[in-house]
Amino acid sequence: MLIDLLTDSGTSAMSTRQWAALQQGDESYAGSPSWYRFVAALQDLAPYRHIIPTHQGRAAEKILFSIAGGPGAIIPNNTHFDTTRANVEASGAQALDLVAACGLDPQHEAPFKGNMDLDRLEELLRREGHRVPLVMLTITNNSGGGQPVSMENIRQTRALCQRYGKPLFLDACRFAENAWFIREREPGYGDRHPREIAREMFSLADGMTMSAKKDALVNIGGWLALNDDDWAQQARNLLILTEGFPTYGGLAGRDLEAMAVGLEEVLEEDYLRYRITSTAYLGQALDALGIPIVKPVGGHAVYIDARALLPHIPPLQYPGQALACEMYRAGGIRACEIGTVMFGLQADGSEQPAAMDLVRMAIPRRVYTQSHVDYCIEVLEAVYRRREHLRGMKIVEAPPQLRHFTARFAPLE
Ligand SMILES: *Cc1c(COP(=O)(O)O)cnc(C)c1O
Repeated sequence: MLIDLLTDSGTSAMSTRQWAALQQGDESYAGSPSWYRFVAALQDLAPYRHIIPTHQGRAAEKILFSIAGGPGAIIPNNTHFDTTRANVEASGAQALDLVAACGLDPQHEAPFKGNMDLDRLEELLRREGHRVPLVMLTITNNSGGGQPVSMENIRQTRALCQRYGKPLFLDACRFAENAWFIREREPGYGDRHPREIAREMFSLADGMTMSAKKDALVNIGGWLALNDDDWAQQARNLLILTEGFPTYGGLAGRDLEAMAVGLEEVLEEDYLRYRITSTAYLGQALDALGIPIVKPVGGHAVYIDARALLPHIPPLQYPGQALACEMYRAGGIRACEIGTVMFGLQADGSEQPAAMDLVRMAIPRRVYTQSHVDYCIEVLEAVYRRREHLRGMKIVEAPPQLRHFTARFAPLE
């Protein structure tokens, strides 16, 4: 493999300041100074009363839905990420995606395609509100093309939550990228610092789940943060059961130090401008070649619309998987299917086409240069030229849950 665009999760390069911070890690079991430095950095942005540190995002999800989920419950989100959906469903609850309609049309250009469909959310709360323990918003919307959610939409989602007495949780993995898009695209925010915008986003919610492997710029880490005292008490008990003591969770003191610094660095304007511009550079080049991508280009990744690129491969023959394999064979580029392999398996064991069949080229933070990206563009051009020759795939082995992580495939004749 030459270029690894499998994920932007935990693949970022840490800065010299973060490496220096590691050396200050205090590994006390309880009440380490590193814990208090991390809490101060986080609460400066997101002043939730309780912070539950976990080893990564899905551990926070597991704890949250063990408490709030369960049989009969419905958890609405703009779009659940795969681990979020799996943890909701593992609790016995139903995971419901309510992204605005434009968010499901890859070619449609709109500034905030991650927005929640407020009408559908209101209808759900009116009809089935008693089954909804909380509402989630994923910023940015990873499974929907890395598209941002506007401040206005967060505000209106909150207003609905308040009217129906529901807490709002942010799946905030890419909060800094979402803040940057708000600054660039939402009227009234052009001269605001990303830090202020992030604070405003967090002020509109009652809690968050976080994978620090994204916008805390570290290789491992996460947390659950919330205001509800009763849920927090239950969460700490679950944390001790599987992650660790409440002042370190699943992490070492040095990890907490690196996250504290990462939370500052990720909101620096120079960093965010470079980050978003370099992703757009790749997307615009593919678009110019005629390769269908999700538009506009999202924050952490370029998503190729494999269903549009390979119309001769039906969704249940996994056009996204076929394209990802060909990118690897042609140029040693590893990318990731986000489509029917990931989302096609239904709770009843049947298989349905996912809403979209995408291939995500996720960009690790502070890792690759423009020459790496130019190489990727050349490889994609070569794959695109012989697209008619690509074949569908079949699954030859798969586990019952989260099958895309470990399934095995074979090409169709
Ligand atoms: C990565 C991610 C998660 C899960 O976090 P992990 O650290 O991989 O467990 C949850 N939600 C979103 C939107 C993500 O991108």
